Amino acid sequence: MFTDSHCHIFKEYYENIDEIINNAKNNGVNRLIVAADNYNSSLEVLELVSKYDDIYGAIGLHPENALEEFDYSIFSNISNKIIAIGEIGLDYYYTKETKEKQIEILRKQLSIAEKLKVPVVIHSREATKDTIDILKEYNVKGIIHSFSGSLETAKIYVKMGYKLGINGVVTFKNCNLKEVYKYLSPENIVLETDSPYLAPVPYRGKRNEPAYMIEVAKFMADIFNISLEELAKISNKNISEIFDI
Ligand SMILES: [Zn+2]
Repeated sequence: MFTDSHCHIFKEYYENIDEIINNAKNNGVNRLIVAADNYNSSLEVLELVSKYDDIYGAIGLHPENALEEFDYSIFSNISNKIIAIGEIGLDYYYTKETKEKQIEILRKQLSIAEKLKVPVVIHSREATKDTIDILKEYNVKGIIHSFSGSLETAKIYVKMGYKLGINGVVTFKNCNLKEVYKYLSPENIVLETDSPYLAPVPYRGKRNEPAYMIEVAKFMADIFNISLEELAKISNKNISEIFDI
């Protein structure tokens, strides 16, 4: 019924991936989009999508890993299961010192996405202005994963054709994102977990997994004042507007 539009279901975090997928299905989360963050995790995504029917993948080089080796020929694997380039973007919070390199690899991956007509999954932290300015130069669409900006920023991304990824952060007590989403519509968002990170309340602080996305879904259905079924329907429609699934 639901799709986790962004998770990292990798061996280094989970001993038993079959069990994680089953838990997800038992909680109404029946499709997963697994995002890579460097070359090795991109290879692992390729493996996962060939093994599991309901797993799709995004491959790419994350800004925090900007200095790592990355063989861009891996993008020849874009297919009906490898559906996006991601996660890519800018992170000036953890790794500001590699800013120039981050911009260079972001541009490189955006131009590949534009050429291959494939959507992107964007990570942006403390880098809103540069992210918007750079994305505007490319004719691509995608997801702003783990969106955490202001209403004004949200509206800019929506206008550019991007959907906003919402995860457990919205359920945190002191998070003001609820106020932002009150003024947006369910058509603007997709749900995600970012597992193993950012577990929603009541699992906050624990290792996250796609099954817990149902807590984010309940929370957002409440904010939009619609049923869970309606939210599932709209968010899956939003996903198919961005990704070819
Ligand atoms: Zn992520």
